[in-house]
Amino acid sequence: MGIDGPATPQGLNGPTAPQGHRQPPWIVATPSRVSEFTKCRRAYFNSSILSLGGEHTESPAIEVGLLVHSLLADSHAAGGCISREAIGNAADLHGEEIASMLEAHYDLCPAQSGATAHLLGAEMDLAWWDSSTRTHFRGRLDAVWDVDGTLTVRDYKTGRHPEEDHRSRFDVSAYAALAAVNFTGIRPIAVEFEYLASGALERVAFDEFSFQDALARIRGMAKEIAGTREFPGNPGIICESCDFRSVCPESAA
Ligand SMILES: [Zn+2]
Repeated sequence: MGIDGPATPQGLNGPTAPQGHRQPPWIVATPSRVSEFTKCRRAYFNSSILSLGGEHTESPAIEVGLLVHSLLADSHAAGGCISREAIGNAADLHGEEIASMLEAHYDLCPAQSGATAHLLGAEMDLAWWDSSTRTHFRGRLDAVWDVDGTLTVRDYKTGRHPEEDHRSRFDVSAYAALAAVNFTGIRPIAVEFEYLASGALERVAFDEFSFQDALARIRGMAKEIAGTREFPGNPGIICESCDFRSVCPESAA
């Protein structure tokens, strides 16, 4: 649309990309940004293009997740896994829900599995520059292990366990790519989700073909984001936990 074209109405169609986004030199993608883009383009526009913070949404579930991630990162950074004693202390300090999630991790941890498991890093911020789409991918991986020669990403889930094909999740592809480009000497690759409320483990293993599929999926999403010029809202239940719910003209909350 030229500068003399009709103004795009606000609201139903959402705002249009500002000039700076028209031919971006690159885009920045993370699993959470892509998730937001998929759920609501208006929320993505606010946070990732305008860099607005919105209002913090208080959520007990988010607080539980942060605490469990932080306790596990600290314990693994010290070597080995969290100890039974530390789990007992967590029960006293933080309650049974937290302790039972730590217990579930203890049973799932590669360090307890009997395999030759070497922790490569915890809460790792990894990046990958993809020159073919001019995309800077970033992501924080909860834990990266070498388990019997398999480069294994572990992601801790403290929420519900969705019934879905985990291979089709974007974040699974993203974690595999981020680990692969940063640890080139360890193959094959697997991404595993620890569901700490239920004690279940979801595993997606990659061979060369499925890894290429994952890269294609990531690049396809990068192209879609880079080519998007309109950012309508997606009013619905997601508005209730949206940081922009009180200022968004399309909010259903
Ligand atoms: Zn562990």
